[in-house]
Amino acid sequence: MTLANGRHYLAIPGPSVIPDPVLQAMHRPAPNIYTGELLDLTHSLVPDLNRIAGTTGNLAMYITNGHGLWEASLTNMISRGDRVLVCVTGNFGHGWAGVAQALGAQVEVIDFGTRAPVDAARLEEALRADTGHEIRAVLGVHVDTATSVRNDIAAMRRAIDAAGHPAVFAVDCIASLGCDRFEMDAWGVDVMLTASQKGLMTPPGMGFVWFSEKARAAGETANMRTPYWDWTMRARAEQLYQFFDGTPPTHHLYGLRQAVTMILEEGLENVWSRHATLAGAYWAAIDTWGQEGRLSFNIADPAHRSNAVTTLSLGGNDGTRLRDWLTGHLGITLGISLGFGEMGSAEADGYFRIGHMGHVNAHMVLGIVGAMETAFAALDIPHRTGGSVAAAQFLATAAAGETVPVAAPASCCA
Ligand SMILES: *Cc1c(COP(=O)(O)O)cnc(C)c1O
Repeated sequence: MTLANGRHYLAIPGPSVIPDPVLQAMHRPAPNIYTGELLDLTHSLVPDLNRIAGTTGNLAMYITNGHGLWEASLTNMISRGDRVLVCVTGNFGHGWAGVAQALGAQVEVIDFGTRAPVDAARLEEALRADTGHEIRAVLGVHVDTATSVRNDIAAMRRAIDAAGHPAVFAVDCIASLGCDRFEMDAWGVDVMLTASQKGLMTPPGMGFVWFSEKARAAGETANMRTPYWDWTMRARAEQLYQFFDGTPPTHHLYGLRQAVTMILEEGLENVWSRHATLAGAYWAAIDTWGQEGRLSFNIADPAHRSNAVTTLSLGGNDGTRLRDWLTGHLGITLGISLGFGEMGSAEADGYFRIGHMGHVNAHMVLGIVGAMETAFAALDIPHRTGGSVAAAQFLATAAAGETVPVAAPASCCA
């Protein structure tokens, strides 16, 4: 017998669940790409996406995934041989650093490991040591999806300012935008990237790069720019072919329009608060389970955890056993381990991730919590019972109006 029939729940940290209204908005014949509705729709996305990003800066849209955005941002910011400083807190920081390296930048990595956020004091120290101001860009990742750490972006900005360093500050918000509070202008970010398939609840295939006037000016001499990745025309586009340097991603645009409308109708503060509340329900369950056995958070301090994804360790090969059992028996897929040993290695098999980004509500969280308890029982994975009760109590409190506040970092916006 299988208990997996019915709608499958892909609870991985991207691609995230696509809302039915987004799918429905995409179900249509091919539109005209020269004039009319789609052109107006695309123009309407710019101010709305800017609101979600918290910026009045420039927006360049691309047909690409996150890896393409790493390249898009770098080719507009730096020249071959330029020094770039990358603050790494997991696999995705290493990924961006690797692209910079491959493009011919001189890359310096400050590796904060896999279990802690960026220490802004170390960033400041590294920038102070660069007395000639040769470092052109500082790269950071808001939420590293592999470790589920959330970095204090405003504190990183303050470190750059405290060092009196002119480098452009670029941040990867692919996992966090539309999930964890992020305010590009208030936090002093010069370049920010996100993709369509996580907090923006749209299929993979569209990417966004925002850039400040400072970044635009600094990048004017960037010598790696290629016609496709160049952000200049895209940010000033009038016609659809200018937005996307060719045929636009027609159906993605309809889906994205719907998703953005849903986010703004819910309200950004409410979206952030919902993510914090649902993450809190998972963490209440995990805190209870983890009092016996080996289940533990990769990021011990909740203040440094993302509200979009949670990375967990079970040890042995229990992470993979749990995931395989849930997919096979209950129709649920959790996220694989990333950046903890080679894929398929003994170390990697001990980790797994839960994606809770985007179109997620309380009963989806409770479904996964109950499913995990079912798997623990079926697989004899030791744990303290009572996780689902803890999650339910947490949600009951939240539903009574005591929503989890989503504070701006203490360092922000003084
Ligand atoms: C998902 C993700 C990426 C990579 O995006 P792809 O679309 O898979 O290329 C990069 N950075 C972060 C933080 C991510 O979460």
